[in-house]
Amino acid sequence: MSVQVLAAEMAEVELKDVPCKQLTPESPLTTKADDKGIVESEPKAVVTSATTPTMEPMVKTGDPSPGFLTPNTKMPQASAMKRTDPQQNGGEAFVNRDGTVAEAPRLKKIQFADQKQEFNKRPTKIGRRSLSRSISQSSTDSYGSAASYTDSSDDETSPRDKQQKNSKGNGDFCIKNIKQADFGRREIEIAEQEMPALMALRKRAQGEKPLAGAKVVGCTHITAQTAVLMETLSALGAQCRWAACNIYSTQNEVAAALAEGGFSVFAWKGESEDDFWWCIDRCVNLEGWQPNMILDDGGDLTHWIYKKYPNMFKKIKGIVEESVTGVHRLYQLSKAGKLCVPAMNVNDSVTKQKFDNLYCCRESILDGLKRTTDVMFGGKQVVVCGYGEVGKGCCAALKAMGSIVYVTEIDPICALQACMDGFRLVKLNEVIRQVDIVITCTGNKNVVVREFLDRMKNGCIVCNMGHSNTEIDVASLRTPELTWERVRSQVDHVIWPDGKRIVLLAEGRLLNLSCSTVPTFVLSITATTQALALIELYNAPEGRYKQDVYLLPKKMDEYVASLHLPTFDAHLTELSDEQAKYLGLNKNGPFKPNYYRY
Ligand code: NAD
Repeated sequence: MSVQVLAAEMAEVELKDVPCKQLTPESPLTTKADDKGIVESEPKAVVTSATTPTMEPMVKTGDPSPGFLTPNTKMPQASAMKRTDPQQNGGEAFVNRDGTVAEAPRLKKIQFADQKQEFNKRPTKIGRRSLSRSISQSSTDSYGSAASYTDSSDDETSPRDKQQKNSKGNGDFCIKNIKQADFGRREIEIAEQEMPALMALRKRAQGEKPLAGAKVVGCTHITAQTAVLMETLSALGAQCRWAACNIYSTQNEVAAALAEGGFSVFAWKGESEDDFWWCIDRCVNLEGWQPNMILDDGGDLTHWIYKKYPNMFKKIKGIVEESVTGVHRLYQLSKAGKLCVPAMNVNDSVTKQKFDNLYCCRESILDGLKRTTDVMFGGKQVVVCGYGEVGKGCCAALKAMGSIVYVTEIDPICALQACMDGFRLVKLNEVIRQVDIVITCTGNKNVVVREFLDRMKNGCIVCNMGHSNTEIDVASLRTPELTWERVRSQVDHVIWPDGKRIVLLAEGRLLNLSCSTVPTFVLSITATTQALALIELYNAPEGRYKQDVYLLPKKMDEYVASLHLPTFDAHLTELSDEQAKYLGLNKNGPFKPNYYRY
């Protein structure tokens, strides 16, 4: 993700109120830090993609011997992992004990108006629920899967006005309709098939409960994949209370299944802004229950606790944050000396980055284009702007389908990579008249401007895979001489006076998040990383982590990957003692320095 762009735009984010030192007198957390609540002597944590690479590790990671893996467990070696034959074991992979909507992605100023804590005057109609501001864009920089399949639109009653109980008489939840639980359960079971690492972690739970005593308050997309994560955390010993990080992405039936299973879930699809904060508050503000871990996606939950319940940080052992936005906020808090507890940036874990950017886009570019246009890829001429991780994924997929792929780049290294991979490196103006499809994935702005749009041939498909809708100058197409025709959901024909038309997808917003789904396996990587980050922060000995932002220890990143290998019957080679000594490595990892670029 383009952290630089975010850094510039997010500079406006309002962060005030709770200097960490206010908590100092009573807080055991602050005994480890200086009077600013941070430890200045250590290098500040840096997001590598925002910085110039150097020979030194630029990221702060945790101790290479994660607590969860020690002392009585070891880093898994693939050769020590067993995989049962899917034919013989109901398709289930197994790791032994030695061995884890779509709104435009706009960057908004986040406001936390004080009246948000008064939840009385609230809109109840979906039509008044659209968000113009305030809620962070978390849903657009972390990925949920498809939204709810069930249509509960006929039920206009706000969940907040309903009294519901699950079959055991428990009513500590607020969801659309508890009767959808069976359907939601099936969705969760389907997701479990593609989340082997979490299922493997559960198996371990039979022996030990690394999250025993953990009280996790979470704010993420509430989807089948999140449900698999929550049920895994529960199997590992944690108590969970959960709200949605996005007003549209909750799968109502999944929320129902979770509530039926005893989870305190406060979320439904189509929440109002007021509902959104109310749900978060219900998760946090409960007599006799205080969270000691935060799992956040976008930073709204963290910010709510900072603003409304700062004293809770005395008991909170750590924050795990998934999104670019949320991570950025944490770095800001850290810089301002206001971060009261250690935080784990899981967004920048190597495994997660690779899956979100390269592999996810390699699959979803085709899905997004097919669903919207039914285009045949073979023989089509495509230009991909930007040959970073996302561009590489798009190019690989299109090439494999028989497309003729051109690449544009500004960076000679990425440009040379494109050449080595067999793509023609061109300037956009050289091919713009002949190509059938234009895809942007630069993270930049005004890559495809009106001049290029004017010169495209009739029927050219134009779309964006980059984070923000700045890459294609869509605004330049809103002129009187051009006619817009909505031909399908997310598909517009823009028609020139001479009859030429271009096919604009998702109005220049991120194609795959707007028009297709994210593979569950990608979300499995993220969820496993989140689970391990929680385990690590919760079990870390005093002093391992200070009030700062950390990356998941490399060894755990490797562990996330290794827990997904059995799915493919993959067999890792084990280092011999002699080889380990020769390379100066521990046989159990980590196998690469932090500066290694995968
Ligand atoms: P990256 O930095 O690895 O790659 C972007 C590339 O674009 C760089 O090589 C850069 O040199 C090049 N570039 C910049 N300006 C250019 C221009 N004017 N013309 C041609 N090339 C240019 O980033 P990435 O990981 O590939 O991500 C790219 C974008 O996609 C980001 O905005 C990111 O947030 C987003 N993203 C999207 C998804 C998704 O699912 N669609 C997933 C991850 C990231």
